[in-house]
Amino acid sequence: MSSTASKDQAFGPKPEECRDTDHYVKEYNDGFVDKWDDLIDWDSRAESEGDFFIQTLKERGVKRILDVACGTGFHSVRLIEAGFDVVSADGSADMLAKAFENGRKRGHILRTVQADWRQLNRDINGRYDAVICLGNSFTHLFNENDRRKTLAEFYSALNHDGVLILDQRNYDSILDHGYSSKHTYYYCGNDISVYPEYVDPGLTRFRYAFPDDSVYHLNMFPLRKAYARRLMREVGFQDIQTYGDFKETYRESEPDFFIHFAEKK
Ligand code: SAM
Repeated sequence: MSSTASKDQAFGPKPEECRDTDHYVKEYNDGFVDKWDDLIDWDSRAESEGDFFIQTLKERGVKRILDVACGTGFHSVRLIEAGFDVVSADGSADMLAKAFENGRKRGHILRTVQADWRQLNRDINGRYDAVICLGNSFTHLFNENDRRKTLAEFYSALNHDGVLILDQRNYDSILDHGYSSKHTYYYCGNDISVYPEYVDPGLTRFRYAFPDDSVYHLNMFPLRKAYARRLMREVGFQDIQTYGDFKETYRESEPDFFIHFAEKK
């Protein structure tokens, strides 16, 4: 498939060597941002996800939510429509502009903040009952210091008794058994091919090919589940619970995605 319609994501001549936390801003260029909603398909994603997040957040009495990786605004908009008070943050100005536009189309004025997670509390005001970091976003971080710093910033942005909800792909399965995806929950768009083109213990390079022949990539860190849970614990989070594809019980290799709930007590 040709990649002529794709805009340059500036991976350089050896894309597999690009393992840089700061690179995400170049990966979400206006070309890929424009395609993101085709990839996730809001209606199908809302249907497959159901009320999972809305219900869990309500059960916990959450009112104020900080969506730290709002992307094009899918969760921010859904949560606003469910009655939550939401602030939408992202480090990419292009993503935030798209989120704002998507919100406006649905009759909402999103409160957007451009903030890199590593300096989150410099740019946001106040504390939140929940911080959500969804869509495999956290695995854009390529070194442990960035991960620790980010989790510490998330912790600090939470009220006492607040909850962090952070999801990730099942990289254990990709690293240990190879890639397979039911493609049911997250990337729901039709006729879009998504798979890891390159995998080693330090990099998973995903390829996204669209029906108009455009091709984009994301370089992500293959975060193992146990390691992610340990980092959260070490930063101070407690009672970490990990769901697999929205279910409490699962066989380890089965889910495409894990969703961690980590409490600040
Ligand atoms: N949550 C959205 C979704 O599920 O559709 C977007 C997910 S997208 C895979 C990852 C998002 O994380 C992008 O919008 C990107 O700009 C943001 N991001 C990645 N690294 C970041 C960082 N260090 N600080 C702030 N935002 C970051």
